[in-house]
Amino acid sequence: MNKQGVLTVVSGFSGAGKGCVMKALLKKYNYELSISATTRAPRTGEEHGREYFFLTREEFQGMINNSELIEWAEYVGNYYGTPKKYVENQLNAGKDVILEIEIQGALKVKNQFPDALLIFITPPTGEELKSRLIRRGTESIDKIKQRLQRAADEVIHMEEYDYIVLNETDKLEECVETVHNIIQNEHYKAS
Ligand code: 5GP
Repeated sequence: MNKQGVLTVVSGFSGAGKGCVMKALLKKYNYELSISATTRAPRTGEEHGREYFFLTREEFQGMINNSELIEWAEYVGNYYGTPKKYVENQLNAGKDVILEIEIQGALKVKNQFPDALLIFITPPTGEELKSRLIRRGTESIDKIKQRLQRAADEVIHMEEYDYIVLNETDKLEECVETVHNIIQNEHYKAS
C-alpha cells in the first residue's frame, strides 16, 4: 500500500519568522519543502532554485497558461505560485510536503486538497512584527508599510487555519517542535 504524504501549508505575516521556523524544521526533520516560483527579484544571498525559481512575468504567465501551478497569488506587487508537478510527485511517493505560502494561496490549496493541513505562524504582537521587519532590513520602508498593511488585511482569515502557532522571541525550538508535532499527529489521524 502506498500511503499519500501529508500536505501542510504554513502561512504567517511577513516578518513572523516563518522562514526561520521552516529552516530549523527542515534541518531537524524529514520534510519536502516545495520551492515556489516568483516574479520578485532575489534578495542578497538568495539563489534561483533554492529559495525560489525567480522568473520574469512572461515566464510566470507561461506557467499559469500551461496549468503548471497549483495556485498563484499576487503579493505586494509580485506574483508567487506553487509548481504542481513536484508537490504531486512527492505526495504520491508518500513524502510529507510543506508549502510556505500566503493566505490567498493557502485557501486555494485547501479547495483542491481538502485534507491539507493549514498552520498559521504569528509573532506575539503587531509591534513585534513591525520591529522584526525593520530589523531584517531586506525591504524599503515603503515595502515594509505595504507588508504591514497586508498583515492587517490578513488577520481576518486566521480563523480559517487548522492551527495558529505562536513564534515567540527566543523560542524558535519550541515553535519548530509544535509544528512538527501537529504534522505527525495528522499521520495518526489518517491511519
Ligand atoms: P517573500 O517575498 O517574503 O519571500 O514572500 C512574500 C509572501 O509570499 C510570503 O507570505 C510567502 O509565504 C508568500 N509565498 C511564497 N511562495 C508562495 C507561493 O508559491 N504562493 C503563494 N500564494 N504565496 C507564496
